[in-house]
Amino acid sequence: DIVVLRLGHRPERDARVTTHVGLTSRALGAAGMLLTSDDKSVAESIERVDKSWGGGFWVRIGVGYRSEIRKWKESGGIVVHMTMYGINMPDCIEHIRDEFKTKGVMVVVGAEKVPGDVYQLADYNIAVGNQPHSEIAALALFLDWLQQGREFGKTFSDGELRIIPCEHGKNVERT
Ligand code: SAM
Repeated sequence: DIVVLRLGHRPERDARVTTHVGLTSRALGAAGMLLTSDDKSVAESIERVDKSWGGGFWVRIGVGYRSEIRKWKESGGIVVHMTMYGINMPDCIEHIRDEFKTKGVMVVVGAEKVPGDVYQLADYNIAVGNQPHSEIAALALFLDWLQQGREFGKTFSDGELRIIPCEHGKNVERT
């Protein structure tokens, strides 16, 4: 399994970006998202999308990052913190893919300044290029490199709607 831990969400500023972190996680193969804030509205909008489009992606709000990271590691998972200061992704992805064969991956992304202990608690501090950019972009590229495109084959069951891909226009089926 892959879960995403979103740190430092500020309800007044980050609602849209955090929602996109959740939607991107869901669309690209993660099972759920943990949010250190207790912003219900973000969880509700992601859950609405999941109800319509299926897949069973979950959101849990109001978590403590230290205890979630500790529990994840205790249950045998690895923790990958996305940071521009980390090891550039091409130089560490193979190790992470290797571990992912048998272990769950928790991906940690920040909003504003990430608490210093996260760098120590993480098994890997990984950069999608050593330049500042966006948690959504970093997360999307990491999820793709981790799964090597397999996320595109994921099925989203139990939704109300399904897209029939078409070259022009929109074709949506009610299930
Ligand atoms: N200035 C903050 C700091 O020093 O911790 C980071 C702000 S950045 C807008 C928000 C998040 O985007 C970061 O916590 C990180 O997860 C992600 N991010 C930004 N650039 C990245 C990069 N080059 N590689 C990996 N993650 C990145």
